[in-house]
Amino acid sequence: MALFAQLATLAETLAAEPGRLKKRAAIAEAVRATQAASGSDDAGLLCLYLAGQPFAEADPRKLSAGGALLSRAVKAVSSATDTELTAAYRRHGDMGAAASDVWPDGIAETLTLAEVEEAFAAMAIARTTASRAALVEGLLRRATALEAKYLLKLMLGDMRIGVKQSLIEEAIAVAAEAELTAIRHAVMLEADLARVVRMAFASTLAQAHMRLFHPLGFMLASPVEIPEEAVERFTGKPLPDAEASDAPRIHAFLEDKFDGMRAQLHCGDPTQPGRVALYSRTREEITESFPELVEALQQALRGRKQPLILDGEILAWDFAAEKALPFARLGQRIGRKRIDSAMRRQVPVVFMAFDILFQGEDLLLALPLHERRARLEQVIAQLGPKAVAPLDADHDTAQGSLFVSANPAAPLQRLRLSPTQRVESAEQIDRAYAEARARANEGVMLKAAKSAYQPGRRGLAWVKLKRELATLDVVITGAEYGHGRRAGLLSDYTFAVRGISATGEPELLNVGKAYSGVTDAEIAELTAWLKAHTLVDRGHFRTVEPLRVLEVAFNNIMRSDRHSSGFALRFPRILRIRDDKPVEEIDTLERVEAIYESQPDKDSTELESASRSEEPSINPDDPSPKLRKSKA
Ligand code: AMP
Repeated sequence: MALFAQLATLAETLAAEPGRLKKRAAIAEAVRATQAASGSDDAGLLCLYLAGQPFAEADPRKLSAGGALLSRAVKAVSSATDTELTAAYRRHGDMGAAASDVWPDGIAETLTLAEVEEAFAAMAIARTTASRAALVEGLLRRATALEAKYLLKLMLGDMRIGVKQSLIEEAIAVAAEAELTAIRHAVMLEADLARVVRMAFASTLAQAHMRLFHPLGFMLASPVEIPEEAVERFTGKPLPDAEASDAPRIHAFLEDKFDGMRAQLHCGDPTQPGRVALYSRTREEITESFPELVEALQQALRGRKQPLILDGEILAWDFAAEKALPFARLGQRIGRKRIDSAMRRQVPVVFMAFDILFQGEDLLLALPLHERRARLEQVIAQLGPKAVAPLDADHDTAQGSLFVSANPAAPLQRLRLSPTQRVESAEQIDRAYAEARARANEGVMLKAAKSAYQPGRRGLAWVKLKRELATLDVVITGAEYGHGRRAGLLSDYTFAVRGISATGEPELLNVGKAYSGVTDAEIAELTAWLKAHTLVDRGHFRTVEPLRVLEVAFNNIMRSDRHSSGFALRFPRILRIRDDKPVEEIDTLERVEAIYESQPDKDSTELESASRSEEPSINPDDPSPKLRKSKA
């Protein structure tokens, strides 16, 4: 029986070891030793847990133990006070490390990996929070400080030891003397690290087969600024002069870049009739938020045995105009678990398919795109017209709607084929880009016709060409502490533009909040500065003197009642700190409005309601301090 302490000790060693090769050797040795001493079940659990996975990816079970439940359990077992635990959390930015600071001594190392597995299984089926909490406490009471540290990290799904799953896969290959490619392939198909360890030691990797209902990695695109750059990427050669007659031709498919939610659709498995699942780019299952897509696929697949995995984009869809609605409209549904008829009418959705990854018995990733596309077209021709679902849920007929006047019983086609065209030159791309923008889509995607589907890769076979909005110069008005590596550092910045108050006074109006784009050294410097210039300290959030100017980029501007400006930047990122710029010269609300108005895909009434999401206000009273003189 392998002890959990062995895993905890290994994890602690790995966290302190910067060298990748040394880490790999340490993991391989531990896997080999565990397999030799207690068999491949334990070696499998060791790898799974080291990857921070309480259950295999293919396993739908969930622990349902969040930070609140775990911190209550830590307090109960350790008898630490709130203040002690909060201080420890501030020091580490991590609950596991914080708990080990306040943990009692004198506990023996007896907990086994198999007992942890058993407790996790019981937690997954616990009916009440109280019974789940009791199971967590039971586990923690048997843990030493080091074991508690890693049990908590494992339950939270993030070990933070600088070990990626790919490194564990390499170590398994070394330990079991198996081919790394065979290990990786089996992991992709089975999505179960523990099972693959068992297969590797039993020399049965060749028997790995694709199971539906776990997401494959998503292929991603690299950005390009102009069509010529896309051509250069695909040909690998710089473009000759525009007049030259021998301009290279490319072989690519071009599609509109839709602004929706990327999703992978799994359905048609004869062993699980009627099951349809949708996964997000972050590998979360999001099926519950889109019941009409499930109904439509069930309808289309009735009586057919056709396992399928499709890649595409979920879009809020205007069925009358046959075009996508702005992302903000879809945003109203994202993360919602219960979708009633009112929501189905307010935000009608479709699945816009652009790739096919699996069909029948065949994994299609290695096929060139033009062959995958031909298969996809066939599948959608067959299933698309039948993949229908009405606006209203069967059991719940809404009392009319302000938004859609279509007949509620009319079935609507929910599975669509992303239109594509072949392009060969920068000129054609340019034209298609203008057309896509005119349809209010974000830009275009170009995909090399001969390319294989590379899961999880941002390669050069797909490129995206999209408009960058202008940047804004803003001033920091508030700051929050970060997490993890940024614990104890003020690394999240709320920022504002200039406006004029009702009484004609200059004032600052918050427009967003960003944390990405600044270096560690800049964060450290800003933290010291912001602490010294705090106006109001509310613990986690500080209102600060508005003196530090930032230049921020973003993808979009939305109307929002979250900030005092009435707007919010979408995906803001900090380009640089502009200490060269006085606060009096930062951008104005007028400019924000002008950029907002210039967006062809804005839709003011919808955006306004979108902003009234369930998400709590980040900075509820939005202090918007008065404009002051710039930093001395
Ligand atoms: P980005 O989010 O800017 O990295 O762009 C990549 C995203 O574009 C993908 O994850 C998809 O959600 C989205 N996308 C929109 N339209 C397409 C399309 N036709 N093909 C592939 N991805 C698309």
